[in-house]
Amino acid sequence: PPRLWPVYKPLLENYLDEMGIDVDLKTGFSPDVVDYVVYAPSGLRDFTPFTRLKAVLSLWAGVESIADNTTLTVPLARMVDHGLTQGMTEWVVGHVLRYHLGIDAHIHGLKGEWRQDVPPLASERAVTILGLGALGQAAAVALAALGFRVTGWSRSARDVPGVTCLHGGDGLKTALNSAEIVVLLLPSTPATENTLNAETLALLPRGARIINPGRGPLIDDTALLAALDSGHVGHATLDVFRTEPLPASHPYWTHPNVTVTPHIASETRPVTAAKVICENIRRGEAGEPFLHLVDRGLGY
Ligand code: NDP
Repeated sequence: PPRLWPVYKPLLENYLDEMGIDVDLKTGFSPDVVDYVVYAPSGLRDFTPFTRLKAVLSLWAGVESIADNTTLTVPLARMVDHGLTQGMTEWVVGHVLRYHLGIDAHIHGLKGEWRQDVPPLASERAVTILGLGALGQAAAVALAALGFRVTGWSRSARDVPGVTCLHGGDGLKTALNSAEIVVLLLPSTPATENTLNAETLALLPRGARIINPGRGPLIDDTALLAALDSGHVGHATLDVFRTEPLPASHPYWTHPNVTVTPHIASETRPVTAAKVICENIRRGEAGEPFLHLVDRGLGY
């Protein structure tokens, strides 16, 4: 059975039982008896043998591995999970505070020098979040609650309390222009590839810091390395990469101004996520619309 199964099977059974839904949970099935696929990125590419499939329910928030699959003709739902959102908020806030407070200077030591560099208050620090979806909004709200000057950017117009919300091409320029810290929480789609490239990185003030828990292709790596080398970008914390695991020879590993984390910003949490899957199965069985549907045309 798939690696996830031992964790999810008892949870799904329990929640479905509570909902009074009689479902036979199996692996090793014949595809033509399957109603719902609970999906994590895998070798499964061809959905044509799943002749009675009603929906694919992704355990992952990012669906770039399946959104453009033309053999899939039924609804695709992605994961919006309280545990995943909370984990991402904590990770983003932690890394923003690292930069904001200048914690590295003290971890690496001031070499015997009693130098009292007092950080500004959060209200004097501009943070921009690219992507105002389930994860971006939660991180933006948490940072705004700490007092940061938060700007968010999305494809369509959004309204998030305490956050300056921008969209469109001009919105991106404004969002980057004053950003001292930029957090990427966009999905990986054809439209978001290289959102940070030589041209857009140049819009940032000198010394800006970048935090990417979104997806590797959001950043043009060559342009980022050049901006780091010139000092235009002060530091980058990267959790996701075009190739994962990040190859040992990749310059990010050894760059003095890059922190690499191994795609651990946040994870789907089985206890909460299994409820989301079960609710969508309930909806499917009741003929109600599924939650968190992916717009296959947009790719997220
Ligand atoms: P959502 O789909 O809820 O939000 C995506 C946001 O990006 C929306 O605000 C959307 O705009 C915006 N967006 C999409 N395309 C564009 C575009 N072309 N231009 C501008 N804005 C755009 O996703 P989540 O918040 O749930 O997740 C975001 C991403 O985080 C995931 O796709 C995944 O890649 C990543 N992730 C990473 C994890 C990790 O551990 N590193 C864990 C989980 C997720 P609009 O509001 O207009 O739709």
